[in-house]
Amino acid sequence: FFSAWFGPIVIVHDTGIVQFWSVSSVSNVLPKESKRRMRPMILNFERKDTNHKPTGGTFTNNGKFASPLEPLENLSDSQTPPALHEPETAHHDRDHKNEPLSHDWLKFLPPLFTSCPDPTGKTLYISALVVGQGLYMSAIDLNGVCYTTTLNYTEVDRIRPMQQDFETFFKAMEKQFQERTFRVYRSGAKVMLILKDDICFSLLHNDDTATVMWNMVSDVLESFSLRTSDNSAEGVVQLREQLERLQNDINEEIARKKVLQSSITRSEEEERQNMQKYGSLQNEAVTLTQEWQQMCEAMGLDPADLDNPLPPPASGSYGRQPLATDTRELDISLLVLLKSKYSPANDESDRFRELESPKDRWLKVVRPLLSNEYKTQMKNLPEGKTQLVMKCMEKLDEWDFDVWTLQDMTEQGSIFYAAYAMFLRWDLFRRLEIDEQIAINFFSQVEAGYHPNAYHNSMHGADVMHIVHYILLKGQGKEKLQLKDHDVLAMLVAAMIHDFDHPGLNNNFHIKVQSYLSTLYNDRSVLENHHLAEVFDLMKTPRFNLFHCLKPEHALDARETMIEVVLATDMGLHAKVFGAWKRRLAQNHTLHKRKDDQRLALSMCIKMADISNCGRPLDMYLKWSTKLVEEFFAQGDNERARGDTVSPFMDRQQPHMGKGQVAFMNYVILPMFESIGEYLPEMMFAVDIALTNKAYWKQVE
Ligand SMILES: [Zn+2]
Repeated sequence: FFSAWFGPIVIVHDTGIVQFWSVSSVSNVLPKESKRRMRPMILNFERKDTNHKPTGGTFTNNGKFASPLEPLENLSDSQTPPALHEPETAHHDRDHKNEPLSHDWLKFLPPLFTSCPDPTGKTLYISALVVGQGLYMSAIDLNGVCYTTTLNYTEVDRIRPMQQDFETFFKAMEKQFQERTFRVYRSGAKVMLILKDDICFSLLHNDDTATVMWNMVSDVLESFSLRTSDNSAEGVVQLREQLERLQNDINEEIARKKVLQSSITRSEEEERQNMQKYGSLQNEAVTLTQEWQQMCEAMGLDPADLDNPLPPPASGSYGRQPLATDTRELDISLLVLLKSKYSPANDESDRFRELESPKDRWLKVVRPLLSNEYKTQMKNLPEGKTQLVMKCMEKLDEWDFDVWTLQDMTEQGSIFYAAYAMFLRWDLFRRLEIDEQIAINFFSQVEAGYHPNAYHNSMHGADVMHIVHYILLKGQGKEKLQLKDHDVLAMLVAAMIHDFDHPGLNNNFHIKVQSYLSTLYNDRSVLENHHLAEVFDLMKTPRFNLFHCLKPEHALDARETMIEVVLATDMGLHAKVFGAWKRRLAQNHTLHKRKDDQRLALSMCIKMADISNCGRPLDMYLKWSTKLVEEFFAQGDNERARGDTVSPFMDRQQPHMGKGQVAFMNYVILPMFESIGEYLPEMMFAVDIALTNKAYWKQVE
């Protein structure tokens, strides 16, 4: 065991031999020099402390041993220390007689040397020694950094608990240090040693002596192989910690096993009860069958004749009807005409060649005609559905495009055929290298995802998509906002899916009845969240993933745009979205530079499209509003049947459609159309149409 402090080093062998080196002016000499000048001296050490611990201990003064800082030559037998009980007397005297305390005896008190692993895992050696001027303390760690302090008598009195003599104090210090209740903190040049009763030593880093001290300490460590024992001590600590962890794991496993065991017992009990129930039900069934057969026999009937299944529900009555295959039934000749109208074949090769590169993906399903062939075919088109659809498509870029006819002439295919035509119109298949088969699958599923509601059916999806198409094209939206191809794609898809799987009952209804969807989306834009989530879920399947062709960053961008604009169609958020739009527009009209400005403008586009009915030609407007009222009344009936209050404007017993429409025009439609017209002047005409429609209601009322 050893103790190191400024100058001397003491080695205490387990045999009781003490080795003692003294070096004068250590800070002024080189390490080698210091070693040469060391003067080993062996003293016989009479071990008095029978509880001597192998990890360190108090160096008991044997009476022949003086303060190590005094020159060794001056040692003499005359320096006998006073009895150890003297400090107590002095202490006692001071308390009672109020006399100044004499510190002469201090230099005979035992020096302290001990070691412990500090919180950073390194072993720290500490020594304290009472010298002429007071208490001298030093600490050294395994990096060789040395910290020292000298406390004068006043400071010693301050840190020593008043009721303790120095021997008790030193013992307490040593004990705490070894038990690691003696905490060590480092910050820069300082080390703080804190005992648990808040006695604190602040030791300063001593640069001058650090190197010398460390060389001396490492010599000693090497010669006595103390490093090894340090390591094994660390190893023991680690093993003990590992053992504790394992013990904890075992306890946890035992607890878990108990829980599992009890749940198994419960399950077994339940199964037993279920089997009992099952048995008695089976018996009952046998009895009933026998009774039934007896009854039939008695009445002279054949039981097989009495099977009378319910008639199948009328088709299209309610709920969406998923497709049995990936795509709807395709009218290929119609698709050929549509493709030839917008992207006729350049030459014969477009019609027959093998498809190789991604550039050919747009030809996967439908091969176009040559331009002149198309013209001839169109001229000779017989009267019928195909002719009507093609006539309808003539107005694809016009405000009075008629989705009603399209829906009727294409077996409920308004979204499918309008989307196909618009993608060709924007040349998206070729520009984005979209796989035509995937697009056809996707359009088919989107259309099939709409319920046959009075209003929120696939026609409404096609209608909103058409108005968005119009605003971007004729309204100059694409140009003004400097949209990229994938932005246009995102907007057309957002519009076509914006009411996907709409159940014909609005957000308020879902919240009121606490439907599953309202719980899933926490009453926030319940349906809008649902439309989006359903479609993005569909797109996770590769054969429906319309964004397969986009770069990952564009796909993410398109998704974000879709989410932003479809959530904005929640009329519950109208004041918020419209307010943001008005404030932004009041600043300036440069909305193309920032993504969020762009998306705000696009949100307004889809919002306008969603409620554009009021700005459409009167006959269309009336058709749409009648359908909307029909759906509202259906919800009102539902509410009444549930015993709930019927929502305003949804009570067929109190119809006042006109009043509602005029208010809606005044507070929502006109301000919104006007401000969009302010940004896109080409759209201003819609305000005039809305005013005409409003006048119609005033007249009717
Ligand atoms: Zn809608």
